[in-house]
Amino acid sequence: MCGVFGVCGYEEAALSCIHGLYYLQHRGEKQWGICTTYDNKPDRFNLIKRNGKVEATEYDILKLQGNIAIGHVRYPTAGPADLDNAQPHVVLDPPLMYCANGDIVNYNEVREVLEKKGVYFASRNDGELEAKYLAYLIQRGKTPIEAIAEMMNNIQGAFSAILVYKGKMYAFRDRMGIRPIVFGMRQRNSHKSWIVSSETCGLDVIKARFIREIKPAEVVVFEQNREPVSYDLSDRIKNPPKHYSHCVFECIYFARPESTIFDLSVYRFRKLLGAYLSRQMGIKSDNNSIVGSVPDSSNVAALGFHQESGIPLEFMLIRHHSTGRTFIASKDEREEKARLKYNPVRTVIKGKDVYVVDDSIVRGTTSRKIVRMLKNAGAKTVNLCISSPPIRHPCFYGIDTPTESELIASRKRLFYVEKIREFVEADRLEYLSLENLKNTIRELGQNPEDFCFACMDGKYPTKTPRYKKSSAGGHGK
Ligand code: SF4
Repeated sequence: MCGVFGVCGYEEAALSCIHGLYYLQHRGEKQWGICTTYDNKPDRFNLIKRNGKVEATEYDILKLQGNIAIGHVRYPTAGPADLDNAQPHVVLDPPLMYCANGDIVNYNEVREVLEKKGVYFASRNDGELEAKYLAYLIQRGKTPIEAIAEMMNNIQGAFSAILVYKGKMYAFRDRMGIRPIVFGMRQRNSHKSWIVSSETCGLDVIKARFIREIKPAEVVVFEQNREPVSYDLSDRIKNPPKHYSHCVFECIYFARPESTIFDLSVYRFRKLLGAYLSRQMGIKSDNNSIVGSVPDSSNVAALGFHQESGIPLEFMLIRHHSTGRTFIASKDEREEKARLKYNPVRTVIKGKDVYVVDDSIVRGTTSRKIVRMLKNAGAKTVNLCISSPPIRHPCFYGIDTPTESELIASRKRLFYVEKIREFVEADRLEYLSLENLKNTIRELGQNPEDFCFACMDGKYPTKTPRYKKSSAGGHGK
C-alpha cells in the first residue's frame, strides 16, 4: 500500500506536498519521495527520496523548487525497501515524472515485452514499469491520453497514478477503481491550484476543497489557473468490467477515518460495521461488561458497537504512537511492535467481561498477545469481536496480506473459527459475516458488487499471477 499526492500551480508546491504526505503517512512508512518541476521548464526536475517517515529538512525544501510537485509514501508489498524502488520515478527522454499506488498482476509479462524493445529498468517497482511504459509510447508519437489508454488496456490490476508531462499534471485510475484517488482545489485570491491525493485527509491538511473522486478509467488533466479537463477512457477499454472493484479493506482498516473514499465516509462505514457486529452477536449491556478498541484503526467500529449494544465504552488499551502500524511491519518487527505498542489500563479491565473490537485477524499472533495482555490485566473474560470477515486469501493489488500458509483463517480450514479462538486464547471470537459487510455497503447507498472482497471470498476481479509475491525478490510498491 502506498499514498500519492500531487500539487499543480502553486509556487510552494513542495511544501504543500510534504504536508499532504504527512497525512498519508499511514499508507506507507518505509520510504517517501517528492519530485518538483516548473510548468515553463518541464524538462528540469528536482527529486529527493528518503528512507523512513516523511521528515523534510530546510535543504530539501530549498532544493524542491517548482510550481508542480508530486509525492509518494511507500509501503513495500514486495521487493526490497530500497531507494531504487521508492517513488516518484523520473524519465529523461521524454521528460516526465510519475508515481502510483497499487500493484499490477501481469508485471513480469509487460516487463518482458518492454525489455525486448530495449527499455531498461533499474528496479522491480510497478511505478517504474508504468512510467517507462508511458515514456515508451509517448516517444513513439502517442499523446499522453493515448498512452494512458493503451497502458490501461495492457496492464491488469490496481493503479491510482499521477503523471507530469510538459507542465500538465494527469491523474488517473485503473478501470476497476481498486485504490482510491481524489482531487480538490485551493484558491488564493483569483489564483487556483489543483491538488490530487490518495485520500481526502490530504486535502484537508492544506485547506484544499474536496471536489470529487477520480473515476475508474478516467484521466483528469490539471493546469495552473485552468479548469481541469476530464477524459473518460471507458469506451477505449477492451472488455470493460461490469462492475468496479473498490478495495473494501481500505474502508475497514487502511484509510483514515476522517477520509471520504469511494464516495463513502470511512467513519460512518466503520461505525456501521461495529453496529452490525454487535447485532450479529446479539449481546446486551449488563453490569459487568465493557467494550473497547484495539487502537487506532478499530476505534470507530468500537464506538458503533457500544452505541448499538449499550455496553459502556472504555479506553482499555493505550497505544504507543511511535511504534507505527503492525500490519505494515516485517515479521520480526511485528512481533516486537505488538509487545511494545499497547499497554492495558488495569483499573478499567480488572474483573470485567471485556469485548475488544479489532478490524481483522491476519496471522493471529498479535490478537493472541492482546488477549493475553487483557487477561493478565485482570479481565474476567475476553471476547474478541472482529469487524471484518476472516481474511483467507492473499491480495495481489497492493495490500500485503501474506501467503495462504501464513493466514490463520486459511491454515485452520476445518472449524476454523473455533480453532482460531483456541489459538488466540479468547473466551469468544466472532467475525462480522460477509453478508453484514455487504449490508453495511448497501446501507450507505452503494452496491456491494462494486467492491472487491477477494481476500475474504477468493473471487478476484482479475486473473491472478501463478506465484504469490514473497517479501523478497518480487515486485511491488
Ligand atoms: S483482495 Fe482484499 S485487500 Fe486486496 S483489493 Fe481486494 S479487498 Fe482489498
